[in-house]
Amino acid sequence: MAGVPYHAMEAYVGKLLRAGLRVALCDQVEDAEAARGLVRREVVRVLSPGTVVEDAYLNGSASNYVVAICLRSHHHGLAALDCSTGELAVIRSDATDPALRDELARLRPAEVIAAEADRPALAPLLGTTPVTWVESRDFDARAAVDRLRTVLGVETLAAYGCEEWPEALAAAHAVLAYAARTHLRLEPGLVRLHADHPQAFMHLDPGTRRSLGLRGDAGLPSAEDLLALMEREATTAMGARTLRRWLDQPLRTRASLDSRLERVERLHEDALGQGRLRSALARMPDLERIVARIGQGLSGPRELRQLHRALTALPAVRVAASRWEDFATPPPPPGIDGLRDEIERALVDEVPATLRDGGVFQPGYDADLDSIRDGSREAREWIAALEGAERERTGIRSLRVGFNQVFGYYIEISHANREPIPAEYTRKQTLVNGERYITPELKEKETLVLNAKGALVAREHALFRDLCRRITGEAPVLLDIAAWLGDLDALTALAQVAARHRWVRPELRDEPGIQIRGGRHPLVESALGPGRFVGNDLAMDPDGARIVLLSGPNMAGKSTYLRQAGIIVLLAQVGSFVPADAAVIGICDRIFTRVGAHDELARGLSTFMVEMVETAHILAHGTPRSLLIFDEVGRGTSTYDGVSIAQAILEYLHDAPQLRALTIFATHYHELTALAERLPALRNYRMEVKEEGERVVFLHQVVAGGADRSYGIHVAELAGLPRQVVIRARQVLLELEGQRPLERPPASAQLTLPIDHPVLDELKQLDLERLSPREALEKLFAWQGQHAGT
Ligand code: ATP
Repeated sequence: MAGVPYHAMEAYVGKLLRAGLRVALCDQVEDAEAARGLVRREVVRVLSPGTVVEDAYLNGSASNYVVAICLRSHHHGLAALDCSTGELAVIRSDATDPALRDELARLRPAEVIAAEADRPALAPLLGTTPVTWVESRDFDARAAVDRLRTVLGVETLAAYGCEEWPEALAAAHAVLAYAARTHLRLEPGLVRLHADHPQAFMHLDPGTRRSLGLRGDAGLPSAEDLLALMEREATTAMGARTLRRWLDQPLRTRASLDSRLERVERLHEDALGQGRLRSALARMPDLERIVARIGQGLSGPRELRQLHRALTALPAVRVAASRWEDFATPPPPPGIDGLRDEIERALVDEVPATLRDGGVFQPGYDADLDSIRDGSREAREWIAALEGAERERTGIRSLRVGFNQVFGYYIEISHANREPIPAEYTRKQTLVNGERYITPELKEKETLVLNAKGALVAREHALFRDLCRRITGEAPVLLDIAAWLGDLDALTALAQVAARHRWVRPELRDEPGIQIRGGRHPLVESALGPGRFVGNDLAMDPDGARIVLLSGPNMAGKSTYLRQAGIIVLLAQVGSFVPADAAVIGICDRIFTRVGAHDELARGLSTFMVEMVETAHILAHGTPRSLLIFDEVGRGTSTYDGVSIAQAILEYLHDAPQLRALTIFATHYHELTALAERLPALRNYRMEVKEEGERVVFLHQVVAGGADRSYGIHVAELAGLPRQVVIRARQVLLELEGQRPLERPPASAQLTLPIDHPVLDELKQLDLERLSPREALEKLFAWQGQHAGT
């Protein structure tokens, strides 16, 4: 338990929340003046990482979810509540750890609620996310329906499409119960529910998010991620949050994507209109979070001022957006102008941060407030004039009017005075050299002055509550406007990114297939600087070239090429333009990547084991609508094992009828390129390198055909390995190649000798009839000696 100075509270609470703790806030709950004995105190709020709504504790451009997870045998249910905006997403996921992990990677919960009984299953998946373990009965699907109906203010949930998802409803119940326990008020109209249907979205596992550079380190020489590259172009916090949600949750429905793309294109082709819209948006505060805070009764005078700013900025945005007919510009809602005018009439220009000392409302707004203020002012003036008036009237020169905390206002007359004391003076206190008196009229004025302050603050509180209540009544309309603003700004950001980086509108198809001309990796490109990135083509279709086998030396740009294909597909399914000269994208259900080496020692898995586990997962879950990206599979083990595994995987990808996914497979095992002769849907591509004497130059150009060398030693040389080591490596390579060519690994596990082996030739020529046992033994010794080690 700790007491902190209330004005420094945010700093302390912020620190505790960042440490994943919860903070119970206690306050006096009765008027200290009126209370007898100890003033009653209660817990008025519990602040936790997932339920805070104050800007001080939040990142403006990210949603802040508290997520309840309900584990069931057929499906898992999740409910993600962003208390700062009222968004509530209910989600049904497959009942597997990877499916759950994917959802959590997308939502990035600030806090998780789960049943104590599920702790053993869940704890390993949740890492360092703060979790509150609750009783299983909090997950009550039946009670959820009533609770949701109340907070949504609707009769039935039919329109939301989650009625048949008991596990998701149960999670929704738990998350709402938790929010209520933290004393959050979720008024009807403030919660906006949506059900996320798995078929509507592209699924991305955490590894794929990472390797495509969506968030955080993609192992690329670039300081920023895709999110940062794009989010920078958003003008408002609402737009930044929307953009983040879109990037985190690519779509699979062509109609929604085409509609987004269409609007991005309109903005993109009209730079002037877009500029006007952006400058109108630039004056728009975070309407969504302001309204949510006001609705929850957690706002101060400043939020009202900001709401006023938002409503004032709105008409200009509406005008700028009306340039495009189909931009779903909401008609001006009837009550909104009145609301803006009322706030304008109500608040003083420079509102104080809190209501505590009053001074929030303007004169002329409320008659009661005015009369309290007037009364208090008149009384003060009367008291100020009293001393002079009484001296005059009584002729007592030493008469003085004063004030102290114990007796309040008094009239003091010294003993030296010989004039008669007026009859209406009542003696209150005797001092060493004088007497203090009061009069009924002075008492009356004093009461006026002293009560006025309390009355003023009380009246301002009441007025503030009324105004907030009025705003809350309009919350659904205001939140609709906020959502519209978020979309508009996110679209504008997409148009701006496209213009800045010369991206193009992709054409989307329902049938699988990918054609990219001049594709680029946006992060590598921006790290390299203008004009240095070499664009590359990619063509894959389910009936022709379905598997691209990309060979080439290290550092030639294989990883970049693979990832850029994934990024282009992902961006297309966000509804964004893409970094290419042209692109036709068949909508994918998932992008799987097996990229890079990392171990999960905490889970007891070595690098190679992780590689194989992830590959197994892809082979089990890929569909003909998936895009699979493999970078150097089999690298984590010995060369022969590695080549064998890589070849077997390629054959499986080629032949397994349920898989038939579009696949890009990068390898520096140039031996694998021979597979193209046998596997008709596999095409060889290689990264072009130019040899200049002993040196190699990477052209970063993808061309048809397979590489015939690995150039590993060249890369080692480029990296600055000592000359001696490089020379020795060349010798060893020559020896190895001479002794034992890296032939293609046998198709079956059984080892068979090549037909033209010299030992076989000798064997065939032996005359066994005439060979003595001793001679036979000598032959065996000789062969063993010659071929030892092969
Ligand atoms: P490794 O096998 O060692 O992982 P790699 O073949 O996958 O190498 P990348 O990591 O993709 O090579 O690329 C190496 C570097 O080459 C990049 O960091 C980038 O600087 C440069 N590069 C890659 N692709 C291109 C390109 N298309 N245009 C210009 N530069 C490129």
